Amino acid sequence: MPLDQYQRDIDYVRISLTDACNLRCVYCMPENMKFRARHELLSDDELRRLITLLGRIGFRKIRFTGGEPTLRPSLAELVRHAAGTPGIAHVGLTTNGVLLDQLARPLRAAGLSSVNLSLDSLDEARFRRLTRWGNLRDVLAGLAAATAAGLGVKLNAVVSRGINDGEDVIALARLTLERAWQVRFIEQMPFGNNAAFQTRGVVRESDLRTRLAGAFGPLEPVNGGRLEGEARLYRLPGARGTVGFISPVSRPFCADCNRVRLTADGVLRLCLLRDHEVNLLMLLRSGATNSELEACIRQAVHEKPWGHGLAQHLIPASRGMSEIGG
Ligand code: SAM
Ligand code: SF4
Repeated sequence: MPLDQYQRDIDYVRISLTDACNLRCVYCMPENMKFRARHELLSDDELRRLITLLGRIGFRKIRFTGGEPTLRPSLAELVRHAAGTPGIAHVGLTTNGVLLDQLARPLRAAGLSSVNLSLDSLDEARFRRLTRWGNLRDVLAGLAAATAAGLGVKLNAVVSRGINDGEDVIALARLTLERAWQVRFIEQMPFGNNAAFQTRGVVRESDLRTRLAGAFGPLEPVNGGRLEGEARLYRLPGARGTVGFISPVSRPFCADCNRVRLTADGVLRLCLLRDHEVNLLMLLRSGATNSELEACIRQAVHEKPWGHGLAQHLIPASRGMSEIGG
């Protein structure tokens, strides 16, 4: 398993399959966002080659993301390749769920284990406002299909001040009373393309916990308050499921970080919130051998930065979230 210079086990890679999206969430990208041309992105062959190498290096978990990964026509093929790659024990997907209704079963059959579904509101009008044109019913159909297909499902909601930090947070948390689901609330992070909006919009975990405790009663910590992945989990009184908080702004989890990201245009991004990157696409297209690629990836992982600099107002400038892969 690759270790970085701080002795963290880095065994998880998030692979973005496209920077394009069929929604335009207000906290993620502008309405007139320009997407990269196809030839600027890793091809399926290049992706397969890198996935095989990542498995050989010691990565154990892959999550496909984007942009919106379900827009990539070869998604199921890539899932099948990843799931069959020696060393890879878990293949997940992060999606807005719009196209999941049709895709859940074939993806499960291809070896997908779990889905993180982004769902910021259960109110049709506010869902549309947040996504600019999304239809909540499509996402709910996707959620039902994912559950029916036997995929593990976690719900992720980015909380935006003044939009979905009231009723929506309560309604989403309420889902965990009846369902054994994990509903996670994410603090909005600032990126160069949208930083002022995102910083104004941040709702801190402590405020959300107070709000949920006011509505449901005291939140009981799960796992003794330890992180599960990047989330701290709690249970509402009498709930079957759990609520989680992913709080990179107010409670950074850099010490426990175990991941790197591969962008759709073939760049290894060592920290979501640092602009330090290593260009694998250039290496691939200049004829690098597998051992050269492997050495480059190992060196990049070794140099993974310790953590982000949001507390020092260091905001990543080179890419937005959808161009990195959340
Ligand atoms: N399109 C897919 C989706 O929405 O799930 C995958 C890509 S999206 C960039 C991955 C995750 O990043 C989503 O849960 C989204 O809500 C979250 N996200 C986008 N912009 C964010 C920001 N500025 N801060 C925190 N999370 C953000
Ligand atoms: Fe698209 Fe996901 Fe960004 Fe929303 S958060 S615009 S669904 S990439």
